[in-house]
Amino acid sequence: MINDEKRLKLAIQKSGRLADESRKLLEKCGINLLKSKDQLFCRAQNFPLDVFFVRDDDIPTFVASNACHIGIIGQNVLFDEQIKLPNQKIKDIITITELGFGQCRLSIAVPNGFEYENIKSLDGKRIATSYQGLLSKFLQDRSINCEIVSMQGAVEIAPRIDMADAVCDLVSTAATLTMNGLKEVETVLESQSVLVRNNSMGQAQEELLARLMLRLQGVLTARSSKYVMLHSPVDRLEEIKGVLPGSESPTVLSLQGRDDLVAVHAVCNEGVFWDTMEDLKAKGASSILVIPIEKMLG
Ligand code: ATP
Ligand code: ZN
Repeated sequence: MINDEKRLKLAIQKSGRLADESRKLLEKCGINLLKSKDQLFCRAQNFPLDVFFVRDDDIPTFVASNACHIGIIGQNVLFDEQIKLPNQKIKDIITITELGFGQCRLSIAVPNGFEYENIKSLDGKRIATSYQGLLSKFLQDRSINCEIVSMQGAVEIAPRIDMADAVCDLVSTAATLTMNGLKEVETVLESQSVLVRNNSMGQAQEELLARLMLRLQGVLTARSSKYVMLHSPVDRLEEIKGVLPGSESPTVLSLQGRDDLVAVHAVCNEGVFWDTMEDLKAKGASSILVIPIEKMLG
């Protein structure tokens, strides 16, 4: 029999905007999950990890109650639950690391015809939202009194049917707001997905989490890093090394039959953009290749 005491339990969103990226992240960490989307639970085959597929709103409760030790969730949901619920164990949930997907912002938006000057323009108004905790704290911190209209979805239609004067909702491109005749006026929170943990796990789980983190850090670092290969004129090598973003000691190799050129290979830990490449070219570099890195272990 498999000993459950020696397994780490992770809660991720079952379906929705974070579901695919959460699964992909585990795959990149070398953890294979079965494909089925309908199941609520999956035992990873090649790592002592059990994954629970739940609604994102339930993840803080799963983690707080130690039904799961860790979870992947949007900061917007985590912080909202932490403000709203009196449960101390939810307040004690710790963010281990940002995961770099699910980026969005929680914004207040008003109808295009609303004459908005500053936050005081919202005083005495009705604001529809699914994020009552975050919104009420935001308004309270700025001494603004509003009536908060709590809705679970389709918040953006509230002004049109006169349920509210403004909305407070998640935005990533503002396209939905524009389509509904709304304009963004205040940012309540910038959010992305995070890996969270509780403080109640045993020694065995702490060790498994440390193992998982090593892989995860490798994946996260690799994602922002690139392997750059180029040819550099010998006399401009120092200049070219200076332009390679975030690289420590590049490898310099001789090129057969060429005294004037060397090959330079470097791991760049910061973004390598087109302007970096143009800069390299302007300094005499040629045959510039920028290659993604899949995994990295320091
Ligand atoms: P569930 O069924 O799990 O309760 P949901 O409908 O509440 O799902 P989704 O719409 O799938 O949630 O969004 C999940 C998370 O994705 C959000 O809480 C937020 O952190 C993030 N997100 C990123 N961009 C957006 C966006 N444009 N609109 C809404 N959420 C976004
Ligand atoms: Zn939800």
